[in-house]
Amino acid sequence: MSHDDANMDCSQALYRMMEYVDGEMTPADTQALRAHLASCSPCLAERDLDQVLREIVQRSCACEPAPPRLRATIMQRITTICDDGSWSEVTQVRQISTEG
Ligand SMILES: [Zn+2]
Repeated sequence: MSHDDANMDCSQALYRMMEYVDGEMTPADTQALRAHLASCSPCLAERDLDQVLREIVQRSCACEPAPPRLRATIMQRITTICDDGSWSEVTQVRQISTEG
């Protein structure tokens, strides 16, 4: 490996990986990082991981509203079942959650 074409080392590459995945780097930096990835498989694996993570986060934000309230409702339902074991109680909890 040589230092002449890419000035970026592993710590720099990993530090700026998120910028790279987000496409926020300058063309020169992008090229330097890309050159590093071409010759460094551990950093390339890290790039893949970051990219996958980023895509998962973006998709779950866009497609899945999942408000915190919904999660609280589910917890309430489970607790109610455990306490009373009755399905009428479950319906009551659901009504409260849609109101408020
Ligand atoms: Zn590296």
